[in-house]
Amino acid sequence: MNHFVEVLLPIPLERNFTYAVTPEQAKNLAQGMRVAVPFGKSKLYTGIVLSQHSNPPVAYQAKEVYQVLDQVPLITEPQLKHWKWMASYYMCTLGEVFRTAVPGVFLLESETRVLKEAGFQDEAAELNEVESLILEALGNHASLKVREIGELIDRKHVLPILNRLLRKKAIRLQEALEEDYRPRTARFLRLHPRYQDEEALEQLLETLSGAPKQTQVLLHLFQLREGQQKPVRSRDLEKRAATSRSVIRALLDKEILEEYHLRQDRIVYEGGENKDIARLNPEQNEALQAIRTSFGLGKTALLHGVTASGKTEVYSHLIREYTDRGKQVLYLVPEIALTAQLIQRLQSLFGSRVAAFHSRQNQNERGEIWHHVQAGEQKASVILGARSSLFLPFSDLGLIIVDEEHENSYKQFDPAPRYHGRDAAIMLGALSGADVLLGSATPSIESFFNAQKGKYGLVTMQHRYGGVLLPEVELVNLADAYRKKKMKGHFSERLREAMDDQLKEGRQIILFQNRRGFSPIVECISCGHVPGCPNCDVSLTYHQQRGQLRCHYCGYHRILETQCQACGNATLDTRGFGTEQVEEELGELFPEIKTARMDLDTTRGKHSHARIIEQFEAREVQVLVGTQMVTKGLDFGNVGLVGIMNADTLLNFPHFRAHERCFQLLTQVAGRAGRKDFRGLVLVQSFNPYHQILKQVSTGDYSGMYQEQLYEREQFKYPPIVRLIKITLRHREWNRVEEGAAWFAKSMRMVFGKHVLGPEYPPVARIRNQYHKQILLKIPLGQSLPQTKNSIKRIEQSFNAISQYRSIRLIYNVDYI
Ligand code: ADP
Ligand code: ZN
Repeated sequence: MNHFVEVLLPIPLERNFTYAVTPEQAKNLAQGMRVAVPFGKSKLYTGIVLSQHSNPPVAYQAKEVYQVLDQVPLITEPQLKHWKWMASYYMCTLGEVFRTAVPGVFLLESETRVLKEAGFQDEAAELNEVESLILEALGNHASLKVREIGELIDRKHVLPILNRLLRKKAIRLQEALEEDYRPRTARFLRLHPRYQDEEALEQLLETLSGAPKQTQVLLHLFQLREGQQKPVRSRDLEKRAATSRSVIRALLDKEILEEYHLRQDRIVYEGGENKDIARLNPEQNEALQAIRTSFGLGKTALLHGVTASGKTEVYSHLIREYTDRGKQVLYLVPEIALTAQLIQRLQSLFGSRVAAFHSRQNQNERGEIWHHVQAGEQKASVILGARSSLFLPFSDLGLIIVDEEHENSYKQFDPAPRYHGRDAAIMLGALSGADVLLGSATPSIESFFNAQKGKYGLVTMQHRYGGVLLPEVELVNLADAYRKKKMKGHFSERLREAMDDQLKEGRQIILFQNRRGFSPIVECISCGHVPGCPNCDVSLTYHQQRGQLRCHYCGYHRILETQCQACGNATLDTRGFGTEQVEEELGELFPEIKTARMDLDTTRGKHSHARIIEQFEAREVQVLVGTQMVTKGLDFGNVGLVGIMNADTLLNFPHFRAHERCFQLLTQVAGRAGRKDFRGLVLVQSFNPYHQILKQVSTGDYSGMYQEQLYEREQFKYPPIVRLIKITLRHREWNRVEEGAAWFAKSMRMVFGKHVLGPEYPPVARIRNQYHKQILLKIPLGQSLPQTKNSIKRIEQSFNAISQYRSIRLIYNVDYI
């Protein structure tokens, strides 16, 4: 009898491929195992076995599976179900889901680059001949492709050997982020060795009798050292002695203290402070009860709790309930930036049970967590991660928390699958029998709508923990301020005064500006020319630090020219402003304070987010300037003031969600102020201080915002009243996109009539030299989604049958947000 397997490859093709296996291989094979297979002319891939059978393929001669790579399945049955749902719901191929879902370390293929792990000891590891040969070759090259190693040895066997070497940590995969990798270190303090003996110490304390602050610090240092019997962190000492960095500086300068650095491993938890879980207050207890009730009814729960109401504490209680029952918990956050602070908070409660999982980790770390989760080990039973952690092979998932559920960054934009992390989580919950909790201070209109309809259980917390009042929100009229000449740079007089007050109180400040960079746009004041990107349809953004003009779409950059390229005059000037400029003006207005900036440019490194947050937490920095990144979830105790430099770009953004987003963003960033012991202040600078949305933000009127936005969505037919599918056509030639899009839209109109909008050019119609045109389909709630998608797929088939259209890329974005 012949043996065949259906193999899923990580490529964007609609179909699977049949391969032949020997009876020997067939005996040990199961669904979900990996196999090494040849594909195309000479490519080698790692694929997943979907099924076994005895029917040879009709259209082609089946090639042989080179090797079976697993003894137990890497992919579980429930995972496959979730993948299939995702491919069908988001209109992409199963291969695309496969590629996104599985860490690269499990997916070796011809072009993967491999390098020798630094510090690996060949002798100790008992390598066989082939393994030694590979390591020797890697020793002579910075890196080698799997294909090249395959040429060195028999290529049919290369993948299992490399997998073995990976497990032995002899080799690793090259990664894009690698250059950024620097181990994270922390500062520690100790007494200078020359004060080791009692006498010297006594003398020292005597000489310091005139410096009580410094003496205090020393006494606290001794206390800490006695108490914890381990190195004393600089920031712990500062906190304990309630002193400032400058006092410690002085002691360092006098060589009384000594500073040293220790490496901190981010993935291994060192144990220690097993904090007791907080006792909930009555409102939090009621919320917890209501969540349980909702789960009992088999419903997703939506926790709508104002900022600093203690949602995270409620989550912690739930997490403990599930882990006590031996269940796994998945805690999703919209962005990696948020894991840095939360991981510490969770580890102090749950110790080594907590593991972070996200794309900034290296492949080996991710591979390890995958195995722990699959084996159901205690070590990684609470996973904190961005949306990609949905794809882990949970063996016994009990609870999924989707924190900040309203965040757009839950939606994957590119590449396919273009899935929404929240919605995929709800599906995962349904497939694996886990409860799902959504949480937000500003729920998305969709989720609140679902709660209103009774599809989700709605749970509300209206008060901040500890009776702290929500911050006072004050609107500052920029038009007025400019007219009265009360502006310095982009800072109104009111903002400057408020900052002064806060700094005098020793409090910290967050300034929010929606754009990174310096002046976003450079313009010639003689001729009006604005330098644009040669590859994309956008203006270049000026980055002062590097003196560059950069394209935020394709990364193109060049040095800012001194003369206008259009008229030759040296009259290039800047308009608008970004975070970099805010930070610079800040330096002029408040030269004595320390500032930090958090935006895409300052957080490219693997740990740079965490470092900025830590600095701010340790109060080494008084003012934090940032983009959206500072708005989310961060919990700082000492922030007295949040300044919004300019709310108008948010208000005027041309999108049906603009007002919803503006409300969410401003409420969230305002929520960073006064979270613990005092009431915070929020200043919103705007040219439209009477705008309805700003009023709703200032009075915390979520329900007013919801009613009004829902009414508009009903009027103009936008989600949640309809579903949206956005279809983008992309090609190098403008003409072809133009014609293809017209054809596609016309065909769609024949089926869906007036529910088809476009084709239209997006705001940026050319990116990386590719023209884009979009068609939007509105799907009324009663209309069958599967049938709708089938109709679109049929149109796609006809489209691809037309030869001049075949090379146009079609991109589906289901539930476009
Ligand atoms: P949210 O997630 O709703 O923004 P947090 O959970 O971060 O709010 O709570 C805000 C602050 O109040 C945190 O510093 C938190 O530790 C504290 N807090 C909240 N609930 C409690 C509680 N029950 N006991 C002690 N501290 C609490
Ligand atoms: Zn560009």
